[in-house]
Amino acid sequence: CGIVGYTGFQDAYEVVINGLRRLEYRGYDSAGIVLEQGTNFDVAKTKGKVEDLVAISKNLIGKSHVGMGHTRWATHGVPSDRNSHPHISNNGKIAIVHNGIIENYDTIKTMLTEKGFVFHSETDTEVLVNLIQYLMDINADIDFPTAVRYALNEVYGAYAITVMHEDFPGVLVVARLGSPLAIGLGNNEYFIASDASPFVEFTKEAVYLEEGHMATISLEHGVDIRNIKDNVKIIPEVQQLKL
Ligand code: GLU
Repeated sequence: CGIVGYTGFQDAYEVVINGLRRLEYRGYDSAGIVLEQGTNFDVAKTKGKVEDLVAISKNLIGKSHVGMGHTRWATHGVPSDRNSHPHISNNGKIAIVHNGIIENYDTIKTMLTEKGFVFHSETDTEVLVNLIQYLMDINADIDFPTAVRYALNEVYGAYAITVMHEDFPGVLVVARLGSPLAIGLGNNEYFIASDASPFVEFTKEAVYLEEGHMATISLEHGVDIRNIKDNVKIIPEVQQLKL
C-alpha cells in the first residue's frame, strides 16, 4: 500500500501515477487519485491495479498541478471501487488518502451518524475525513490544518495520511503515526510519498516525517511541521538522498 502527493509546476497526474507505479512493490488491491481542479476535485478510483486506474482516468492528464494518489491494502471493508481511496467528506470539500488503521472508527462513526453524516464505504478512513469536516462545522474559527490536528487527537491506531480541502487550494496536510511518510523538497515543487522512490528522480532532498508529526505543505508557505499532540513547531532535518 502507498501514498503519493504532489504540488508544483509539473502535471500532477503524471507525477502521482508514476509514483504509484514505483510503490506497487508494497502490494495493494485498489488504486485511486484526486486532483485539484480550480475549486473542485476530480476523483478516479477502482479496485485493481494502477493500470486499471489509468484506464479510467486518462481524461485527467494535464489538468492539474496539485493532487494525491493511493494504493490500498484493505483492512476495513472488502476490496471494491467504493472502498477505494480517496474518500470524500459529506460536504464534498475534503479528500483523504490513508494507509493504516483507525482503531476507534466505530465509536466515531456512531457519533457522526447521530449528527446526520452518511457513509458510502465500509472503511475506517471515511470516518476520519468526516470527523475533520465535523470539527470544522462546529468550530467556525479553526482552519483546515488545525481541524486535521484536532481529529488526529481523537483517533488511535496507525496511519499515514494526506488530506486536501477544496477551500484551501494548493495545500496538502500530511501526518504520520506508525506508517512511513517522506516529503521531497524540490525547486518550487513538493512531493509526498510512502518512501522516496516516487520522487528521487526529481529531487535529492527529503524530510522523513517522524512519529506523531504532521506537516502542512504549500508552495506559498513551504513545509510547516508540527507535533500532532501539542502543535509545537518542529525544525525538519533534511536528508540528502543517495539513490
Ligand atoms: N484501513 C484503510 C482501509 O481499509 C486503509 C488500508 C491501507 O493501508 O491501504 O481502507
